[in-house]
Parts: sequence; structure tokens; C-alpha cells
Amino acid sequence: MTARPSARAAFESNTVKQEWLEGHHARKRFGQNFLHDRHWIGRIVSAIDPKPGDAIVEIGPGQAALTREVVALAGREAAVEIDRDLAAFLRTQFSADELELIEADALKLDWRSVLPGKRLRIIGNLPYNISSPLLFALIAAADRVIDQHFMLQKEVVDRMTAAPGSKTYGRLSVMLQRRYVMHKLFDVPPGAFVPAPKVTSSIVRMVPRAAGEIPPVNEELFAQIVAAAFQQRRKTIRNALSRLMPPEAIEAAGISLGARPEVLSTADYVALTCEAARIVPPAQSS
Ligand code: SAM
Repeated sequence: MTARPSARAAFESNTVKQEWLEGHHARKRFGQNFLHDRHWIGRIVSAIDPKPGDAIVEIGPGQAALTREVVALAGREAAVEIDRDLAAFLRTQFSADELELIEADALKLDWRSVLPGKRLRIIGNLPYNISSPLLFALIAAADRVIDQHFMLQKEVVDRMTAAPGSKTYGRLSVMLQRRYVMHKLFDVPPGAFVPAPKVTSSIVRMVPRAAGEIPPVNEELFAQIVAAAFQQRRKTIRNALSRLMPPEAIEAAGISLGARPEVLSTADYVALTCEAARIVPPAQSS
């Protein structure tokens, strides 16, 4: 009996690969910038550190730059790909045991249906055009996630990991920092991709906080308050939230009325939400 070639050997020796890839033009609408530099692929996969038995889900496997390394180390992964042509190509490269391919839009995916019962490790060189909505959508699945490793535009990772008071601190920072501990790991230059993007990318590790660590709030109200606060950064918190809560409730949360939204911590926004939840919103003036 001949041994089955590893996914990697199969991928690299497969003439289908070369012919097919040459015919595939990167699709801008799907944010396709494919990793091709072995050094950077190796560094990213080392940061993820896939282990046999890990329930890894990759968003946007594309031409399998990360996929083949992850499958070689973990044995298998699940992957969500929107591009039908890439999905067809991936099926020629991996067996169904190695790759559970979900042909879907990751933004519309019901994450409960993905590897049910398992705690997930989610990875991806994310399509930059949908990165923020995707990060928000994944918050709903955070209670069954071990960790997430993503490549995103450096500017987005800087916003995700920014501290209060810094220029890049905003809605994305507050919404994600309440739910995850995040570490920016390293930058990846445009030359690591084909086609090369115009901007530098960064790798971020996101580890969901334990349930007991997350102060319970009305999630919808929290999101509303954070969005209103950062809609016009130059306003005072009193003015920014005037439609959602009266000044007394802001003070009751221990926040000075003249504070700027960008100096308030995640804990401050939680305190504001708790106070806002106690009150009936002021009547809209006509
Ligand atoms: N992982 C590959 C790599 O590193 O070379 C490809 C990364 S490329 C930046 C983004 C990938 O996400 C593409 O394969 C693209 O087709 C896929 N994609 C784009 N939008 C998507 C969506 N809404 N849902 C699932 N996959 C998507």
C-alpha cells in the first residue's frame, strides 16, 4: 500500500496548482491579497502554533498559503471561503478529512453550526474590506472561542489595541477590549503578498476574556452608547450622549461631564451603560 502524500507534498507537486493559480485573477471585491512569502507564512503559522486535535477554523483560505501549513501540523481544519472558484480549487488540494470546506460568506455564517461542540481556534488573513463587521460578528461566538489570530491592516490592529487617550482609540477598541485581551504580534510588509496591498499589515492575537471577567451589561445599549460617544470625537461626553442619557446619569457613573469620549476606559463605558439602563431615555425634542 502506498502512503498517502501529505497535504503539503500533494499541494506542491500538483500541476493543477500552478496552472490554476496562473489563471486566477485576484478579486478585489473579495479583498484577495494572497500570501506568497515563505518566511512570513512560517512566522504567522508559528505564532498560531497549531497542534493535533485543535479545532481550527480559517476564514478565507484562498490559495491555501496558511491552510497547507496548518493542515500539516494540526491534521485538519475547517475553512470558510466565499469565492466558488477558490473553493473548487481547494477541493482538488485536500481530502474532505483534511479540510472541511464551508462555502459561505463569513459575515452571514451561523457560528453555532461550525464544528459544533468544539472550542474553536479561528485564524485568517482577513479580507480587509470586511474586517470590522467580521470582528463585530465574531463577538457573538466569543464564548466558544479559545483564541483568534488575524492578519489585518496595521491601522486596524492599532485601533483594536489602542489605549484610552491615544489618537487611534475609538469604537473598535472599546467594543473589542471589553470582550478580548488582544496583543499585536508583528507587522507584515506589502511585499509578502501577491498582489501587494498598498498598506502594511499586522498580526493580532485575540483571547476572549473568561465569562466572570466580563461585567454584564445590556449589550445593545452598550453598543449604542459607544457608537454615539465616538460619532463626534471632539464633543464632550455630555453632548455626545445627550440623546441617550441625562447629565445626572453620566455623573452617577462617576464620569465628568466635560470628559472627551477618547479618554474614557472600557470600564467607564460599562458604568455609563449601567446608569443608562436605569433611566427612561429623555423624550426627543420636536
Ligand atoms: N488566506 C489566504 C492567504 O493568506 O493567502 C487568502 C487571504 S485573502 C486576503 C482573503 C480571502 O478571504 C480570499 O480567499 C477571499 O476569497 C476570502 N473572502 C473574502 N470575503 C469573504 C467572506 N465574506 N467570507 C469568506 N471568505 C471571504
